Amino acid sequence: MSGRVVVVGAGLAGAKTVEALRAGGYDGTVTLIGTETDRPYERPPLSKGYLLGTDERDAAFVHAADWYAAHDVDLRTGTTVRTLDLAGHDVIDDTGTRTGFDHLVLATGSEPRRLDVPGAQLDGVVYLRTLGDSDRLRAALVPGTRVVVVGGGWIGLEVAAAARAAGCEVSVLVRDPMPLLHVLGPELAAMFADLHRGNGVDLRTRTEVAEVVATGDGTRVGAVALADGTQVDADLVVVGIGAAPRVGLARDAGLTVEDGVVVDAHLRSSDPHVLAVGDIARAAHPLLGTHVRVEHWATALNQPATAAATILGRDEPYDRLPYFFTDQYELGMEYVGWVGPHGYDEVVVRGDLGSRELVAFWRREGRVVAGMNVNVWDVVDDVQALIRSGAVVERDRLADTSVPLTDLV
Ligand code: NAP
Repeated sequence: MSGRVVVVGAGLAGAKTVEALRAGGYDGTVTLIGTETDRPYERPPLSKGYLLGTDERDAAFVHAADWYAAHDVDLRTGTTVRTLDLAGHDVIDDTGTRTGFDHLVLATGSEPRRLDVPGAQLDGVVYLRTLGDSDRLRAALVPGTRVVVVGGGWIGLEVAAAARAAGCEVSVLVRDPMPLLHVLGPELAAMFADLHRGNGVDLRTRTEVAEVVATGDGTRVGAVALADGTQVDADLVVVGIGAAPRVGLARDAGLTVEDGVVVDAHLRSSDPHVLAVGDIARAAHPLLGTHVRVEHWATALNQPATAAATILGRDEPYDRLPYFFTDQYELGMEYVGWVGPHGYDEVVVRGDLGSRELVAFWRREGRVVAGMNVNVWDVVDDVQALIRSGAVVERDRLADTSVPLTDLV
């Protein structure tokens, strides 16, 4: 199939889109444009293996450097698209160059939410989003460094674990009563709080950052002042307080944007020639019966196959369940499913919370809506099947490790 596809955003979702197009037999022109100067890379290693020093830098890249030319993909790194001319079927970049398309795929990802308190601009207040950020953070994590992490989400906790492994003194400041409270609920959030405290983290909950305080010549961070009047000394402050989808281009072009670019199950936006994938896509989900936007690696990895299929004229809606994973200290976990705005009635644990070897199930009206395996492996497919089945499962059988998961469906 010939034509012109332009992909804006050269992260994992962008790279996987061009890969899926070529794999699917698309033989038109393919252009992949991204602001960063590095070629597309995956982000999980940035706060896990690469930050810990166990993964090589090169392992983060999605493709070898020569892959793009070998697949006739015009990769333009260090280039920012400024405007989408949807009527003219052009994108216009920061050099004023116009690139025409028949299909446009938006894969612009997210950007870190900024800490908005006095002193937040000081040297030593850092964010973790790019490979370069990870390089700098890794270099700064040396024994004895006092690291203060603001935010108890995934970045905050993974950075805390890496910093402890590097021999730093670590404080984590969380405004909720527990880290990850809104993602996991109190039952499992408590496990992560215990995990970090047990590994020597000074985890402070119900805290609000009032100011970042300078030291020495007044240009560098020296402490973080809290709203209750206390101060936490800091050589380095890592801010992980969430991310916002980069939807400016889409909004300016008049596409429907509601906390993300609204797309159908085939990932088509309100303009059928424009698709969106990854962090920015608020996609209609056939199984969940609503639109969901999922800021996780697996979405950036898997949605592109659907986007490419749509461009190639195939009917392959995206109906995978949200999935994410983490590694912190000796704990590894995978989470699949979606609790959604209706919440859950109870969490049923199969295994042992104390030893952190378990599968947790979030149940609503007797049905499993999400599951998380912690230091238990090769069960994600079974947990997914259970969720997808919509079967009502007896709580005792769910908790009973002697009942195979496959028998519950
Ligand atoms: P996140 O996981 O959304 O967590 C942000 C945390 O910061 C939340 O606990 C939030 O609390 C809190 N917060 C928000 N505003 C705050 C403020 N002003 N002061 C203090 N705390 C505040 O985001 P993240 O950790 O920054 O990660 C960024 C992105 O990378 C996310 O999309 C995340 O999913 C992704 N990521 C994923 C993984 C993984 O899947 N393992 C690892 C790293 C990064 P509330 O919940 O109360 O708002």
